[in-house]
Amino acid sequence: MRDLTTDLCVIGAGSAGLSVAAGAAQLGAATVLVEEGVMGGDCLNYGCVPSKALLAAAHAAVAHRAASPFGVTAPAPAIDRAAVARHVQDVISGIAPHDSVARFEGLGVTVIQARARFVDRDTVEAGEVRIKARRFVLAVGSSAFIPPIAGLDRVPFLTNETIFDRIAEIRDLIVLGGGPIGVEMAQALARLGAKVQLVEMGQLLPRDDAEAASLVRAALAADGVALHENSTATEAAPAGDRVRLACRDAAGNTQWLEGGHLLVAVGRKPRVEGLGLDLAGIAFSPKGINIDAGLRTSNRRVYAIGDCTGGPAFTHVAGAQAGLVIRSALFRLPVRFETRALPWVTYADPELAQIGLTEAAARAAARGGGGDPVVIRIPYGENDRARAERAETGFIKVVADRRGHILGVTIVGRQAGEMLAPWCLAMSRRLKLSALAGLMLPYPTLSELSKRAAGQFYAPKLFSPAVRHLVRFLRWFG
Ligand SMILES: Cc1cc2nc3c(=O)[nH]c(=O)nc-3n(C[C@H](O)[C@H](O)[C@H](O)COP(=O)(O)OP(=O)(O)OC[C@H]3O[C@@H](n4cnc5c(N)ncnc54)[C@H](O)[C@@H]3O)c2cc1C
Repeated sequence: MRDLTTDLCVIGAGSAGLSVAAGAAQLGAATVLVEEGVMGGDCLNYGCVPSKALLAAAHAAVAHRAASPFGVTAPAPAIDRAAVARHVQDVISGIAPHDSVARFEGLGVTVIQARARFVDRDTVEAGEVRIKARRFVLAVGSSAFIPPIAGLDRVPFLTNETIFDRIAEIRDLIVLGGGPIGVEMAQALARLGAKVQLVEMGQLLPRDDAEAASLVRAALAADGVALHENSTATEAAPAGDRVRLACRDAAGNTQWLEGGHLLVAVGRKPRVEGLGLDLAGIAFSPKGINIDAGLRTSNRRVYAIGDCTGGPAFTHVAGAQAGLVIRSALFRLPVRFETRALPWVTYADPELAQIGLTEAAARAAARGGGGDPVVIRIPYGENDRARAERAETGFIKVVADRRGHILGVTIVGRQAGEMLAPWCLAMSRRLKLSALAGLMLPYPTLSELSKRAAGQFYAPKLFSPAVRHLVRFLRWFG
């Protein structure tokens, strides 16, 4: 066993761990990074990157549908699923060097490719190396949660870790789970020509604005996805080389669905097993590793960030937390992770973007005290760029308090995720709606929807009788 002493030891080379290791090494800290699997973690290999690459192919596959209103007719394209799969792998390969062992060693990081586990409060063992560090960062991520459904262990189901290798062969898919992953994969595969059935025990996209989610629901239905909402999977069984899934609806009726493949996408399970957390005095539960607002575990020497904490499971959260850990561990600055201005996007068509509170959450919070929120909703159809591009499906909804502080924004429609950027700035800097209402934006852009929504907040005040009297009074004085 070789002994190694370092400033910082990072366990896990996914979005969270890579960001900490790169930042710390570039600031001159001696950094060790331990990874048991492939560099890049879920995001690069089994998550964000392959899913967005697949969706891009899927949206291209139906682009001809949107052409006819422009007077352009195009035949339905031929879809070469093997080529689509190669495109997905090609995008991963293109990004992989950025996350590679070679790049990190070039930055001065010592990379150890082995499984890490704590053996006491300040020692980690990985392969043949025993590591002592001033600070540790647990960034071990999550895996697909597999629900306790009778017979599921007897059928060969897919998860996000296996589906991207099977794209070429999937003709007929049951998707279990109607969250962002299930919705994105269902739409992608349906647009690429597969028969898709989606089962969700509640409503699609339950964390999102219900009205916005209903536009995504309509799009999935138009893509041919058979939706089974309020339907609980109770049993799975093999049927030759196919899969059968029993689903009970709200009325208690059971229906058996059959498909060539089954994708399980019902949520994430933080990795807490096999890490020696008990030996290190790190408190955890099946919901994740416990952390305080400063991202420290119950062992003050150890931070935990990213999916393994059971918090919001997004790459941008992992990145933001990594930045905070660097400030805290290397500069000893006080840090606090907040979710007040947390954005997230479901990359379906229409895209659904959210930051902060939804209308329903803001109304619920108001019931607990504070005034009712102001809700402003502008349809895409009232925007000239959206009209010119025949992209009139969608809306922006801004939720604010009576003084113009932004509580949350929902955007559903073309480029919704891109349109969220100024709202991320405004909410993180606690700007009021006046900051957006006063912008000069290029015409015609979809972004004008944001400016218009912000401006509408002030319209009743601006055109009030009191202001009209003031204008008349000033004119009278010449
Ligand atoms: C299909 C899908 C699509 C997604 N799309 C998006 C999206 O569009 N936008 C977005 O923001 N987020 C998206 N996400 C979520 C995003 O991928 C995760 O939030 C992010 O990858 C979490 O990063 P992480 O570093 O916490 O964990 P991971 O990426 O899981 O990395 C953890 C790493 O730790 C390693 N590890 C675990 N245990 C040990 C050990 N004992 N020793 C050594 N190494 C260990 C693992 O091998 C892994 O490489 C998506 C997720 C999925 C599944």
